Amino acid sequence: MKDIAPEDLQNNLKLTARKDPTHQTVVEVGGHSVGDGGFTMIAGPCAVESLDLVIEIAEHVKAAGAQMLRGGAFKPLTFPYRSEKMMELGEEGLRYLAEARERTGLPVVTEVMDARKVDMVADYADVLQIGSRNMQNFPLLEEVGRKGKPVLLKRHFGCSLRDWLGAAEYILYNGNPNVILCERGIAAPHTHQVVSRFIIDIQVVPAAQEYTHLPVIVDPSHSTFRRRYVAPVARAAAAIGADGILIDVHPTPEQAAVDPLQALDYSSFSALAQQLRDIRLAISDI
Ligand code: PEP
Ligand code: MN
Repeated sequence: MKDIAPEDLQNNLKLTARKDPTHQTVVEVGGHSVGDGGFTMIAGPCAVESLDLVIEIAEHVKAAGAQMLRGGAFKPLTFPYRSEKMMELGEEGLRYLAEARERTGLPVVTEVMDARKVDMVADYADVLQIGSRNMQNFPLLEEVGRKGKPVLLKRHFGCSLRDWLGAAEYILYNGNPNVILCERGIAAPHTHQVVSRFIIDIQVVPAAQEYTHLPVIVDPSHSTFRRRYVAPVARAAAAIGADGILIDVHPTPEQAAVDPLQALDYSSFSALAQQLRDIRLAISDI
C-alpha cells in the first residue's frame, strides 16, 4: 500500500486535499451540519425491517440525541439468499425510512449499491451511503457525484487512506463536494473470528483530517461486529476527534434481521450517547 505523496495532493487529490489548516468542508443535511466541530450521531437498524419498527427506532434514537437515522433497504449481504431473517425491502424500505423522517424530522442515511438506482434512492434519502465493498465502484461514485446529494463514503476494509481519498476525489470531480468519510475497520492477517472481525483504524481519523477537508466519522458497529466492543470504540472515536459515528441500534438486537451481534439496544445507546457528549465536552479545549 502506498502512502500519500506530495504529488498526489497536487495532481491526484486536487479537490479532496486540505489546502490549509482552516480549510474544512461542512456538509449540511436537513438543517444539521457535519464537520463543524460538533459530533454527529447517525443511528438506526442495520436493515429496515418494517414501518412500525423503523419509526419506533427513529423516535428512540432521536430522544437519545441522534441527529440522523440510518437503515439499509439495499444490503450488501455475503450470500444471495434473502428471507425474513436476512432482509432487504428495497424501495418499500426506502418509503418506510421517508415516513420515519416525516414523523421525527431525522434525515435519512441509506445505502445505494447500484449506479442505476441512484436516482431512485436519492428520491427518498438525505445522504447516499456508499458501502465499504463499493468504495472503488467507480461508475457508482461518478453517479453519486453527478447527483449532488450528500454522500457517506465508507472505507473499504482492504484499502489505504490514499485509495479512500482517491474514491472521494471521484465524487468531488463529478461535481459533488458534500462527502462524509466513514472508517469502518480494515481486514488484516491478525483479525480474529471472535475478538476482531475487522480492526478499527482509529489513527486514520486524524490522518484523514490532516490530508483532507472532508468530515470523517467512524462506524463502531460494522468494524467491531461484537456488541461489547461497540461502546469502547465509539468512545475512542469521540475522543480522537472524529466528526461523528454511524451506529446500529435495535430494540431486540439479537433478533435483528441483519448483524444481530453488533446492534445496541435503546438503553445502551442512550447511555453511550451521553458518554460521547461528555467526552466531547471534556476535550473541547484541546
Ligand atoms: C452498513 O453500514 O449497513 C454496511 C453494510 O456497512 P459496511 O459497508 O461497512 O460493511
Ligand atoms: Mn450491517
